This record gives sequence, structure tokens and C-alpha cells, in this order.
Amino acid sequence: MTLKNRTAIVTGSTSGIGLGIARALGGAGANLMLNGFGEAQEIERLRAALAAEFKVKVAYSAADMSRPTQIQDMVRTATTELGSVDILVNNAGIQHTASVEEFPDDRWDAVIAINLSSNFHAIKAVLPQMKSRNWGRIVNIASVHGLVASVHKSAYVAAKHGVVGLTKVVALEMAKTGITCNAICPGWVLTPLVQKQIDDRAKAESIPAEQAKEELLAEKQPSGEFASPEQMGHVCLFLCSDAAAQIRGVALPVDGGWLAQ
Ligand code: NAD
Repeated sequence: MTLKNRTAIVTGSTSGIGLGIARALGGAGANLMLNGFGEAQEIERLRAALAAEFKVKVAYSAADMSRPTQIQDMVRTATTELGSVDILVNNAGIQHTASVEEFPDDRWDAVIAINLSSNFHAIKAVLPQMKSRNWGRIVNIASVHGLVASVHKSAYVAAKHGVVGLTKVVALEMAKTGITCNAICPGWVLTPLVQKQIDDRAKAESIPAEQAKEELLAEKQPSGEFASPEQMGHVCLFLCSDAAAQIRGVALPVDGGWLAQ
């Protein structure tokens, strides 16, 4: 398939799953708007490397996904610099783990803003132009935690369930158009976000990181293997294809069997 002459915004694409998705979409010929935090020189190196490897236009927005006005600016800049926004991948996300009683209020607000509200603001900003062309793909990176819960993840689970709900509403509102909206629900993917949870577990249980990693998988993911950012990229690419034009409002687990139990 080709995404030549299409432009994709991938939020949180300086790392992990977002970078895997940006690589897959760029590999299919889409121009890219990268977003996310990181060291300026490293991000510029990444931007230039993707542009050279895939021979597409690649821009970068430093927009903070907890700030609605910055999200609107990112969409405006992508439209001006790259010509349009045809694909929106809402991927940026953070995690914080603590029991409900010990959950800091400011962490709750940050997780809800970045993992859920940013999706709403970005979707609202891109829909008018997608409707004017009667084509669009919106892919929200939810989580298995959009469909089931785990302890100590109240904000994250609430946000991801919200993302799955928002996905369905947008899919229904766009049902008579060429714009689809779906969610991907990854299980464990080995990225910096998960590495931190492995390190925390190793520290709490005074065990080696390798053992903490195995325990993490054994607890939830029957395959005993992490999914990869590359695999997430290719699932996203499929949802952007013509074959997926009638897949609307789904929450697609890519979870090594986590939710089959
Ligand atoms: P990651 O930490 O590797 O990457 C997160 C990205 O989001 C980075 O580019 C970071 O700079 C960016 N980001 C964070 N806060 C931001 C903000 N305020 N504004 C803009 N960008 C911001 O994490 P990841 O594991 O690749 O996670 C990506 C998404 O996948 C998240 O939504 C996460 O909840 C979801 N997810 C991850 C896993 C997993 O196992 N890794 C599983 C299920 C769902």
C-alpha cells in the first residue's frame, strides 16, 4: 500500500511505539509531523534521518499534549508546512502507578490530560479538514487497560477506557464519511515507559531487572513475549489502508493473549 501524498501527525513519536508507527507510515510514503519530548539535537537528528531514509517530508512540533492551544498549533503547523493532515495517530502517553488513596492529584490530572483529553483536542482540530476531503484515518493508541483494569493504575485505566469510548463516538459521528476512527490496545511493549515499571519492580522486590521483566510478562501476557513498536506500526498502517475502510470504532488488542484469559 502507499500513503504517498498523505500526511500523518504521530503524537509522542520521539520514542517507543510512536516512533515505530512514524517509521511504518513514513516507510509507506506518508509525510510526517513528529511530536514528543527529548533533547533538541537528538530530535533533529531523528527528523533528518527519517526524511532521508523514506524520502518524505518530516517536520517536528514540540507541542505539549497537556495544552489544548499547543495541540491546535501543532495541527495548524502540520497543515501549513506539510499541506494537510490526513492521518492522526494519538499516541503520546504517560504512566503513574500508586494506589487510589496515594495517587497524587497532579499526576491524575496529567495522565487524564495527556492520555485522554489530548485525543479529543487533536481529533476536534483535524476533523474539519478531513471532512472537506472526505478521507481520514484516526488511530488512537489506547491499551489493554482500555478494556480491563490492573491495580495501581487508576488514572491510566480511566484515561484508556475513555479513549476507547471516544473512539467509538468519533467512529459513529463519521460513519457516513471516508473518515475512520479506531483504537489499538497494546499489551506489554518494551519501551522506556515499561522499562521504568520493570526497574521499579526490580527495586521494590530486590530482584534483577531480567527477573522483573519475566515476572511482568508471566503475570499478564500468555505469549511470554513483548510486542514490538514495529508491530504496532504495521497494525496502524493496516488501519490506514483501504482494506480497513469499514473497520470503524474497534478497540483492537495486540496483546500476546492478555485479554483472551
Ligand atoms: P514512551 O515513553 O516510549 O513514549 C511516549 C512518548 O510520548 C514520547 O515520545 C514522549 O516524549 C511523549 N510524551 C509524553 N508526554 C508528552 C506530552 N505532554 N506532550 C507530548 N508528548 C509527550 O511510551 P510508549 O510505551 O511508546 O507509549 C506510547 C503509547 O502507547 C502511550 O499512550 C501508552 O499509554 C501506550 N501503551 C504502551 C504500552 C507499552 O507496553 N509500552 C502498552 C499499552 C499502551
